[in-house]
Amino acid sequence: MQEYQQYIGGQFDAGAAQFDSIDPATGAAWARMPAASVADVDRAVQAAEQAFFASDWANMTASQRGKLLLRLADLVAENAQRLAELETRDTGKIIRETTAQIAYVAEFYRYYAGLADKIEGAHLPIDKPDMEVWLRREPLGVVAAIVPWNSQLFLSAVKIGPALAAGCTVVLKASEEAPAPLLEFARIFDQVGFPPGVLNVITGGPEAGAALTSHSKIAHVAFTGGPETARHIVRNSAENLASTSLELGGKSPFIVFDDADIESAVNAQISGIFAATGQSCVAGSRLVISNKIKDQFLARLKEKAEAVVIGAPNDMATEVGPLCTKAQRDHALALIKASTEAGAKLVTGGTTPDGPGYYFPPTILDCSDSPNAPCLSQEFFGPVLSVISFDTEAEALAIANDTKFGLASGVFTQSLTRAHRMIRGIRAGIVWVNTYRAVSPIAPFGGHGLSGHGREGGLQAALDYTKVKAVWLRTSDDPIPDPFVMR
Ligand code: NAD
Repeated sequence: MQEYQQYIGGQFDAGAAQFDSIDPATGAAWARMPAASVADVDRAVQAAEQAFFASDWANMTASQRGKLLLRLADLVAENAQRLAELETRDTGKIIRETTAQIAYVAEFYRYYAGLADKIEGAHLPIDKPDMEVWLRREPLGVVAAIVPWNSQLFLSAVKIGPALAAGCTVVLKASEEAPAPLLEFARIFDQVGFPPGVLNVITGGPEAGAALTSHSKIAHVAFTGGPETARHIVRNSAENLASTSLELGGKSPFIVFDDADIESAVNAQISGIFAATGQSCVAGSRLVISNKIKDQFLARLKEKAEAVVIGAPNDMATEVGPLCTKAQRDHALALIKASTEAGAKLVTGGTTPDGPGYYFPPTILDCSDSPNAPCLSQEFFGPVLSVISFDTEAEALAIANDTKFGLASGVFTQSLTRAHRMIRGIRAGIVWVNTYRAVSPIAPFGGHGLSGHGREGGLQAALDYTKVKAVWLRTSDDPIPDPFVMR
């Protein structure tokens, strides 16, 4: 069994208690992880606060912060393969995806490294002749970053990158389901030369999460996870009125019109729902398809879904691996059962193989005659696609917006005018037209409604880790008159 350590104030330790991490490909424990106690959480926050107010970090220039982030980006790139193998081991995310994704994570740190000294204040043309007024952008303070187990190096980079670029310090809590990649990332971070306490990495479940988000010294909580946990976090952070950014789940529509390039759309839908074994917040999990091409499209989709290579996550040939946890698999099976009972028709998949590991096959449910089936409204977070059909563009838009989520969406059409109408009408934080799942450090990412609020990625994300201070300076040498002279 491998052993991992938490990272607090620039020091590594095994934590007061430990727990096993499970290899999803076998269902067996493979490593011991430190479970942060409430006292550990407090130590981590104190270390971050100390670093924020009373370390070299507090007086560092923005350009110097940028240089440290740049070195971090280089080290992430150098260690990308090792981190990828570790994430694959701990989460079951397939190696071809972790390899590509973690190499790209370095680019997110590089982007925020470049932004550090471009976060500017402003000078105001104030309406008083003897005053100079300007705005300073100052870092928010200590940030609590909480991430789930999927894509965790990516999801933490879009928090740590802008937070450190802005001058904040961070306590990162990794998911208790698979924390190894972030605990290893802490070792890489430690080599960069940041002052101790600038980043602290701990793990643990709801108890550690609650202690962190309700801590009186936390200025902002940046969270990725499910809506139910988000509600706890908002309630806990209300104690100090800390600000929050919430990146939650989705039930994103993937809309295909009859004039679409069908082969392209099928391929995008296959990766849109089955990549990351469906454990992706932006998964295109509702196929909204024109009745004119539905049969043809579904036939091709079924053929491709059934040809997907299911296998060990560490095999480069594997296209769909296991789900991360047994709970995820049980949830997907229960939701399929409830949906078929409500009238959804199983097109392919739906049953899990015997043997070890939490494997789950690509699954398609046709709900065209069962619009109330729960699979159309609830998130699977697994490789399950729900299909619903339409006759008119207005119907397609109404179906797309018939959700409490609002994270991502895809539109496939050759009509430029229709694409523009759909872009305007869709209520989601991202619209992909004739493509799906594209991400970049330069583009903001986030949703509405049950998908949360706030944006990650892009310039605005760095500004969101700052607060504005308005400075008034009187330029007149005349003495200030006695205000009560009239009395
Ligand atoms: P989850 O909400 O159960 O857990 C996420 C994190 O919150 C974990 O680190 C967990 O330990 C912590 N947590 C649990 N209870 C807490 C509490 N009371 N206070 C503070 N922290 C607490 O989510 P999950 O099951 O690990 O991940 C799946 C969910 O994440 C899905 O809903 C998915 O859509 C969403 N997700 C969203 C995005 C996005 O960017 N929008 C990306 C990935 C995943």
